[in-house]
Amino acid sequence: MESFLEAIEEDSTVLNAATMELGATVCTARAPRCEACPIQTMCAWRAAGYPDTGDTRRRQARYEGSDRQARGAALRTLRAAAPEPVALDAVLHDWPDAAQRDRAIDSLIADGLVEASEGLLSLPRA
Ligand code: SF4
Repeated sequence: MESFLEAIEEDSTVLNAATMELGATVCTARAPRCEACPIQTMCAWRAAGYPDTGDTRRRQARYEGSDRQARGAALRTLRAAAPEPVALDAVLHDWPDAAQRDRAIDSLIADGLVEASEGLLSLPRA
């Protein structure tokens, strides 16, 4: 049976699939698992001591406790009640951070994802 490296040298389709699989399961941007990598002895980045690549892309912020989580929870409440509106103070009434709650609701209104009228919130009517 031929080795992994022999197989990818012979067939570019296998090389493409193996590269995609490696990037998805072993050499992830967030946490490369070099100790499990089948090409660790060939890896130039590893051999160079993991130099800075200049990649300045922002990592996505944690979801738990984020404004995005608050926005999602508010939308779920309004979706569950639709087409009926929900009282403003009943949306995320038990959210642990009142300022975040207000910020989430204000941003949903500003983005046009929620309508506010007379102390009530609802999803936009089509
Ligand atoms: S050895 Fe290189 S290719 Fe393999 S996981 Fe580490 S950084 Fe990625």
